Amino acid sequence: MLVAWAAGAWAAGHDSYTVLVSLDGFRWDYVEAYDCPFLSKMGQKGVKAVVTPSFPTKTFPNHYTMATGLVPDHHGIIGNQFRVVETGKLYSAGNAVARDGKLYGGTPLWLTAKQQGVKSATVYWVGSDVAIQGDHANYWLDYGKKPLLTPQQRIDMVIDLLQKPEDKRPHLVMAYFEEPDASGHNYGPISRPTRKAMEELDLLMSSLYFRLMSLPFGKDINLIITGDHGMATLSPECVIPIKKHIKEEWVETIANDYPTLIYAKKPEFVDSIYNALKDLDHMRTWRKGECPEYTVYGNNKNMGDVIAMPDLGWRFTDAPVQRNTGTHGFDHTYSDLWVAFRAIGPDFKSGYERESTFSNVCLYPLVCHLLGLTPAPCDGTLEEVKDLLK
Ligand code: AMP
Ligand code: ZN
Ligand code: ZN
Repeated sequence: MLVAWAAGAWAAGHDSYTVLVSLDGFRWDYVEAYDCPFLSKMGQKGVKAVVTPSFPTKTFPNHYTMATGLVPDHHGIIGNQFRVVETGKLYSAGNAVARDGKLYGGTPLWLTAKQQGVKSATVYWVGSDVAIQGDHANYWLDYGKKPLLTPQQRIDMVIDLLQKPEDKRPHLVMAYFEEPDASGHNYGPISRPTRKAMEELDLLMSSLYFRLMSLPFGKDINLIITGDHGMATLSPECVIPIKKHIKEEWVETIANDYPTLIYAKKPEFVDSIYNALKDLDHMRTWRKGECPEYTVYGNNKNMGDVIAMPDLGWRFTDAPVQRNTGTHGFDHTYSDLWVAFRAIGPDFKSGYERESTFSNVCLYPLVCHLLGLTPAPCDGTLEEVKDLLK
């Protein structure tokens, strides 16, 4: 009897619902820096934490890490762009090659759920419109189909999905929003437009929460709001013109921006490229297989022969730059790239602020736990985040 009670208390199970929201570029300090009364309150009433993204801090690698619990080197989406060595084709966010399900390793949450008889839905998410293992979530949208739903329409869709009759209703809903990343890029993380984007998102998230709570099973919904990476300021002075150091005939492909993945035309050019870049200031250069261990990066079969990463706030460009902007992709240990995390619901503690950060590879086992799913093998553990739970 005691065992049954303990198991019941620990396993959240199939009766609850999880809504996982990703705000692209939701830097860890935006809630405090800007006027976000709802997100602030959500942290006070539920759980507040800071998540460290995986290396590199780009959108495609990290959204797919959030979905699978695998770091980019292990799931295969190693950049927003990379060369597929087997075919010589360029994977580029949103292009036809990026629709090849074979490039997406691991089992994303929406499939883990569906495969175990729990209905899932995605309202956009990197990988969710690709047939991975030949399949999609029970309900999904195509990011290639324009116009995209507006933020308000996405909220309406989350609510509509949860208002389906019980036998058709998803228990996992994942929803993606492009802001505050877009404003962060255009104007920098510390700017009026980014403030405005956060104020609008705060209102939107507030309406999502109160509409969720007004559903008949509102008390059974766990809501998580987080993101894929933070945002760093780019100033006009911090530029590294790397192209002039590399001879065109050495290079087959240059992909991704931060880090830049350089594929050599012939094996003998790998050293030429590496030697040309390795001593330049404000950046680090590695050969494939030689990235520092803490990055857990650089060994994937599609990795560039040379990996060049600027220091925080520096950029590779040969063109003059006019004004401050923002970007991400840099080393995930810089705090500007860290991510806000807020969670509230029946399985989360109330009024709990976690002091230490946790890695985004733990989201996958966490959501699996909330839904009573057996996680596929991954790089995160529930153990690392179980203090967030009641
Ligand atoms: P980044 O260049 O890393 O800032 O990428 C952010 C951009 O990725 C967003 O502004 C979107 O336009 C794009 N994006 C996000 N999700 C998807 C998706 N599922 N498919 C294609 N593009 C996407
Ligand atoms: Zn992003
Ligand atoms: Zn971005």
